[in-house]
This record gives sequence, C-alpha cells and structure tokens, in this order.
Amino acid sequence: MSQTAPRWLSFQAAAQASYGVIDSDDEGYCRNLGALAGAPADLLTAIASDATERLLAEVDRAPRVPLSELRFLPPIPNPSKILCVGLNYRAHQEETGRGGEGVPTIFTRFPSSQVGHEGIMLRPQESATLDYEGEIAIIVGRRARRIKASAALDHLFGVSIYNDGSVREYQRHTSQFTPGKNFPSTGAFGPWIVPFCALEDPDALQLTTRLNGTVMQQATAAQMVHGFAEILEYCARFTELEPGDVIVTGTPGGVGAARTPPVFLDQGDRIEVELSGVGVLRNRVEVG
Ligand code: MG
Repeated sequence: MSQTAPRWLSFQAAAQASYGVIDSDDEGYCRNLGALAGAPADLLTAIASDATERLLAEVDRAPRVPLSELRFLPPIPNPSKILCVGLNYRAHQEETGRGGEGVPTIFTRFPSSQVGHEGIMLRPQESATLDYEGEIAIIVGRRARRIKASAALDHLFGVSIYNDGSVREYQRHTSQFTPGKNFPSTGAFGPWIVPFCALEDPDALQLTTRLNGTVMQQATAAQMVHGFAEILEYCARFTELEPGDVIVTGTPGGVGAARTPPVFLDQGDRIEVELSGVGVLRNRVEVG
C-alpha cells in the first residue's frame, strides 16, 4: 500500500454523523471532510458524485478530529446493497461440506445488520450460535452492469474488512441463509476503506481472524475460489452494481461452528479481523 493512501471512514462526532480521511503522516486524527462547505452528505454520496478527489484537494481546510473523540460507523452505513459470497475458500467448503458449483454462492445482508469498528457485535438472545467470519470487503466506485472480468476492477472504489457474523442455527433452518445473516449488529464493517488502486498486489492481501487473541482463521486473497473480478462480473450480470455497494467476498476455513467442539461467540469475547496493509477491525460481543 502506498504510504500516502488516504483511509476513508464514516464516523459520529459530537452527535453528528460525518466522514473523512486519515492520512498516514497524521496518525491518531482524521480530517472531517463532511464538514467542508458544499461537501456531499455522506461518503456514499461523495463516491457516487465523484467528489472524493475534489474533497482530498481541500483536506488541509477540513477540521482535524482526534480518533479518540469519534465513534466509528460502518464506512458505508447506507449501501443500496450488501452482497455476500459464501463458500469461497476450499477449506471452508470442506469444513461445511457445501459449495463447489462453479459459480459464486451469493446471499444478501441488510444495512441494518451492520456495526462499525469498536462497536458491539450482538449475540441475539434467540440463539447461542453466533459465529465469526473474517472477510475481505470490496466497495463499488462506479456503476456496473454486464461488465467483463477484465475490466471489472476499474469499477472498484476500495477495500475494507468485514466480520460476516452468522447465527448458525438460523442460517440452517432452511437452505436460505438470510435469517442467520441479518440479526442487528452482527455484520461488523471497518475501520475504513483503502482505495483499491493503492494496493500493490490485491491477491497478496492476508486475512487473519483472532478470538480473544487466538488466531482462528488465516488466508490470502489468492486462495479465494472466485476472485474479485469474477465476483464483480457475476454480480453485475444479475443486478446493477451502484457506487457504495459492498461485496463481502467469503470466509476462509476455521469458522467456530466447524470446530470440535464448536466455538461460538459470547458475552465479553473480543473478536478481531486483520487485513494486511489495510488495518484491524475490532469488536466486543454482548448478548442482547
Ligand atoms: Mg461469510
């Protein structure tokens, strides 16, 4: 990653939702770009209106906010779509005994299921089977419909980190994943978005999930069954991808439900997902 790549985030400070960037030479602070005169209302609108470069050009005039004084929101709190890829690593196909159809398994999440960096992931009172799934998220920058894989990456804005928290019991009630993937505050997303063009080698991105400090999952993007470009091409065939849409690209082997004995998240657990060159997404678990 380029040392100068801005990290884009959405946050709440002084009861106001906004967005901005963190510069690598000003760690511990962000620039509140949403406070600039004429700035788009939120990061999704800034991406959709192609305003991010203009905002960056004015970064020195944006108020400087200590990260310790803000609450992280999901980087895109209000995407029109969250598309999730299931069963996209061989080791996860093997541990679940599913997948391998030759096309990506796609399911959806509602924006209301998201929670930001350092927010509380909720193990719902209805089930004791909340599981972690560390994943790479990609964020769409430009509209895409019926695109070729060879040009697909040009439609990306950036990359971020996702914990596709899954209530296994509800995921398996039927063959449809939706209920198990949409309890409130189960989809952790953040802390920020790094521009895709700043990545030196997207396939080298390394994903690591830690539960209370113990490594539970580790893989690189090169191990994905369906790569970023192929996923984009497939999704853009059945829907129009819009700026700010979030695509969560699948979890490696090592999920809690496939362990002996199974491991599920509970009150007080600390769950972290790290993506090399991007950051660490940290959350604590509560029952609610
Ligand atoms: Mg997943």
